[in-house]
Amino acid sequence: MFYIGCHLASSKGYEAMGRQAVDINANTFAFFTRNPRGGSAKALNLKDVEAFLKISSENSFGKLVAHAPYTMNACAADPKIRHFAREAMADDLQRLEATPNNYYNFHPGSHVKQGVDVGIEFIADQLNTVLKSDQSTIVLLETMAGKGSEMGRSFEELREIIDRTEVSEKLGVCFDTCHVWDAGYDVANNFDGVMEEFDKIIGLNRLKAVHLNDSLNPCGSHKDRHAKIGEGFIGADAIIRIINSKYLKGLPFILETPNDIDGYAREIEFLRKNYSE
Ligand code: FE
Ligand code: FE
Ligand code: ZN
Repeated sequence: MFYIGCHLASSKGYEAMGRQAVDINANTFAFFTRNPRGGSAKALNLKDVEAFLKISSENSFGKLVAHAPYTMNACAADPKIRHFAREAMADDLQRLEATPNNYYNFHPGSHVKQGVDVGIEFIADQLNTVLKSDQSTIVLLETMAGKGSEMGRSFEELREIIDRTEVSEKLGVCFDTCHVWDAGYDVANNFDGVMEEFDKIIGLNRLKAVHLNDSLNPCGSHKDRHAKIGEGFIGADAIIRIINSKYLKGLPFILETPNDIDGYAREIEFLRKNYSE
């Protein structure tokens, strides 16, 4: 099964996202659990959730990949920012239990001159406080481009966070093709090699979702600027190889390309045409 979708605006609720996904021939999607830049989350509307769950089962949706707000920085130097990160993640995970068994991905954070080791400690500390063995949601660390002091720029850094997390059976990885490329892994010319390295360092069993993006910059640029599929340095041919990779069979692919909804519909159509079961 090929699960493909994109980021959808969550302002109109779950049912609206479900309908929009069906409209553009998507069978998974991502959305921000709260304003990506700001603070508070909207209250859950259980009727809306129920209507969505019906759409989801009627259309055989794959797992959703909810996205934590960008302002979440588990390893900030400012304790108030770390406190927000913890509260927001705990609250998001609680609300996500209304739509159980999906994914929640977050950016590990930026260590802001405290150093990588302090960053890893703070991130693991947050996960050890927030993750519960009875939650149904799997939390995903996103692979990052390594812009500034961004954490998660290498498979080794992600491995260290996982190693320090107690409830690690609730922890996985979301593989962002633009970020990994920008971090210096050549997903365009040596995807199998990158996957073998991922397997050796993290383990493919941790790989749960893919953010499918082209990159405006060359490999190793540490820039994090997404491009439309086929309009960046990774290129359409490599992206077609990636969606068909034996290492990624059955995972949800989420487009985070700079598109409006019609652009997403066209990319989904293009990818479906180039996917072979
Ligand atoms: Fe992200
Ligand atoms: Fe991403
Ligand atoms: Zn990005």
